[in-house]
Amino acid sequence: MSKDLIEKKPLLQVIDLKQYFVLKKEAMFQTKQVVKAVDGINFDLYPGETLSIVGESGCGKSTTGRSILRLDEPTEGDVLFKGQSLPKMSKRELRNVRGNIQVIFQDPYASLNPRRTIRQMLDEAMAIQKVLPPNKREARMLELMQHVGLRPEYLERYPHEFSGGQRQRIGIARALAVNPEIIICDEAVSALDVSIRAQILNLLKKLQKEFDLTFLFISHDLSVVRHISDRVMVMYLGKVVEISDKSSLFDKPLHPYTKALLSAIPVTDQTKRGERIILKGDVPSPLSPPVGCRFHTRCPFATDLCRQKEPVLVELEKNHSVACHFAKELSS
Ligand code: SF4
Repeated sequence: MSKDLIEKKPLLQVIDLKQYFVLKKEAMFQTKQVVKAVDGINFDLYPGETLSIVGESGCGKSTTGRSILRLDEPTEGDVLFKGQSLPKMSKRELRNVRGNIQVIFQDPYASLNPRRTIRQMLDEAMAIQKVLPPNKREARMLELMQHVGLRPEYLERYPHEFSGGQRQRIGIARALAVNPEIIICDEAVSALDVSIRAQILNLLKKLQKEFDLTFLFISHDLSVVRHISDRVMVMYLGKVVEISDKSSLFDKPLHPYTKALLSAIPVTDQTKRGERIILKGDVPSPLSPPVGCRFHTRCPFATDLCRQKEPVLVELEKNHSVACHFAKELSS
């Protein structure tokens, strides 16, 4: 973490957050099944930074974003925005702070109303959050279109008239329309072609500076994460296994799972390719996560201790924390 960030107060604090989902019983005598999608995670998000959450499908990264926004009500734990508890807020209080925390999803088409023009959508977003009086909104909409690289006449069009990259630009404009401080980007560029993806990532970086934004960037793609992040948090089966500055994590990963993920990143210069670490088996079901270290069923270094005792997240190096009993030995 840079010195600048440490000196700032966190904008968002996630404290022992748990998100469990109870599955419907298939038969009368079946016992209740609980999916522990997020199982007691802690982290801070600092103003102006981009913190990325990475991990395989089902690790809990998107669920974390949804729980912060209360799209799914957290089962336990707290989320503080500027010190105020989001889970404890009434619906009305939450609506008032919602403008401060916006989200951009993977599929912009699904989150844009097909029956509304871009003008109607932007106007409505500003009206709901009461960001500007009606007579000032037109100028703001034109400014937003310029910021996201879309022509002003596109305001009259409907979502189906745009390409995937353009729709994502509209999603970004709609998020910006309400003057947010935090934007949660949930796999926001995953569905885009490589060249369009690079354009949207560069646009996000540019807008971050212009609007003083803080990003929580959720992605399974480590090449993208390397490009956009200041810090990176790695999740596995609902737990945080490593969190660090980007450079420290990519140069010297400490957790065996992070090492395996990084070894799979494609490289253009084959002389720089390290040994690929292939993990055995699939990610276990979050319905019955392994006892002890959740990664032990796939970890090449697992011992009896790993099978019995869950490792806690400890700061092993400056601003670099890891949850592994043997991280020190494995890194030397
Ligand atoms: Fe592997 Fe054990 Fe470390 Fe878990 S605690 S990552 S099983 S060495």
